[in-house]
Amino acid sequence: MRVIIIGAGTGGLSLAHGLRRAGIDVRVFEKEPTRMHGRLGHRVGISPAGSYAMQQTVPPEVFDLFVATCARSPKYFSIVTEQMDEILSVGDIGDSEIDPVDSEKSVSRMTLRQVLLTGLEDVTEFGKQFERYEESADGGVTVFFADGSSVTGDVLVGADGARSKLRKQRLPQARMEQTGILSIGARLPSTPETRALVSEKMLHGVTLAMAPKGMGAIIHVMDFKWDANGIKPRTAIADADIIRSWSGRQYDDSQDYILWAIWAARRWYPEDPEKLGPEELRCLALQMTEGWSPRFRNLIELSELNTLNSINIRTSVPLEPWESSRVTLLGDAVHTMTPGRGVGANTALEDAALLCKRLVEVRDGKRDLLEAIHSYEGDMLEYSRHVVLESRKQMDERDVIHKPVIGRAVLALMRTMMRVVNHLPLLKRLMHRKQMQLRKISDAGAIERQRAQMA
Ligand SMILES: Cc1cc2nc3c(=O)[nH]c(=O)nc-3n(C[C@H](O)[C@H](O)[C@H](O)COP(=O)(O)OP(=O)(O)OC[C@H]3O[C@@H](n4cnc5c(N)ncnc54)[C@H](O)[C@@H]3O)c2cc1C
Repeated sequence: MRVIIIGAGTGGLSLAHGLRRAGIDVRVFEKEPTRMHGRLGHRVGISPAGSYAMQQTVPPEVFDLFVATCARSPKYFSIVTEQMDEILSVGDIGDSEIDPVDSEKSVSRMTLRQVLLTGLEDVTEFGKQFERYEESADGGVTVFFADGSSVTGDVLVGADGARSKLRKQRLPQARMEQTGILSIGARLPSTPETRALVSEKMLHGVTLAMAPKGMGAIIHVMDFKWDANGIKPRTAIADADIIRSWSGRQYDDSQDYILWAIWAARRWYPEDPEKLGPEELRCLALQMTEGWSPRFRNLIELSELNTLNSINIRTSVPLEPWESSRVTLLGDAVHTMTPGRGVGANTALEDAALLCKRLVEVRDGKRDLLEAIHSYEGDMLEYSRHVVLESRKQMDERDVIHKPVIGRAVLALMRTMMRVVNHLPLLKRLMHRKQMQLRKISDAGAIERQRAQMA
């Protein structure tokens, strides 16, 4: 059995590892010209469920590499006003140095790509833009690329992300919806000058700003275990050895940085960010944050121009089951979700682990190919529907917080309640514990589901 995967993203590469480990012939085709190209974004958070899924597919040494190359985990989670005044802050939230699987991890997207490419260099081809496929009567699938070349396999997996061309052909009924929320973001190097612009808690944590008009902002400081001079002091010896001996590091330009993003309902933007170049995007971000803390606006001013980007946040409409074939999909290609819950990559990793398991069962003669793909698609549709809908609730311009008058009243009420909690340490601890418990329960549920699927 030869499996062709379109897209060398989180889900596609994870699946490729699992198939390769099982001895199945796999080839990955990526449209970007080299492994260092691509507008990958900046940071991605991997939850225990995502780590668990990744552990099912990638070789142990690649998983160790993933853990070693994550950024240091945040210590604080803070909510602030647009003036960067604290509304609520909880400490001691980081745990990534405790358990390699059961912990929230922050990783640079470019690092994650290079980590996942480790060991797959000989089966991944860059500069291969998928155009279309044809299924033949003898059971083969032929893929045609923009450069005029083609390749034939037995199974085709579309892991080509939110704008999937493969989805358009395989599932023309699939629909994407606008959430009406637009975002602008960028990053800037973490230097003594830029670090002076953020508070101590921001420096060691994740900070969310709740601003008028339903506007939000996030500041994330990514602190890696290496810098331009090599491995930083106080890095665990085991991690230092892994990072030092990793050849993929030469392709990864990730250095400590400060990441910011703002978002708001479309109605509050004076012009469409999607139509603007980086310099105009910076001006627009400054215009949108007029009257905000000068320090925050300084971060915008000091951003690296080539990192400024805008995102029109869209979501897929959950699909009804379809008749399975040798052509299937995973990750954003089949269930794009808003970043509201930060679980898109985690779900892509779960898809990869599950599809891998089903294809290995085919190789072992335990299942028929179409029945295996049907079983994967059934389970994947069910769990992804839930997270797509939950993620949408977090980012939707119809939410009352985005309304002109009532939105302001709701914001004031929320801020007051949070400030009260912030001044009552016992209540704050209880609420934080409850929040963490809920997150752990939802994550433990995802791991439990994966264990059952893998059994
Ligand atoms: C602002 C933001 C923050 C987020 N934060 C988080 C988070 O904290 N945690 C989390 O779990 N998720 C997060 N997500 C979601 C996450 O980024 C995605 O769900 C995840 O990257 C999907 O992985 P994937 O493998 O399906 O697709 P991708 O990682 O997007 O990979 C798709 C690959 O396919 C390639 N490709 C596309 N078209 C073609 C073609 N025609 N031919 C060949 N190759 C092609 C692309 O170049 C790319 O390499 C966030 C998303 C956004 C927008």
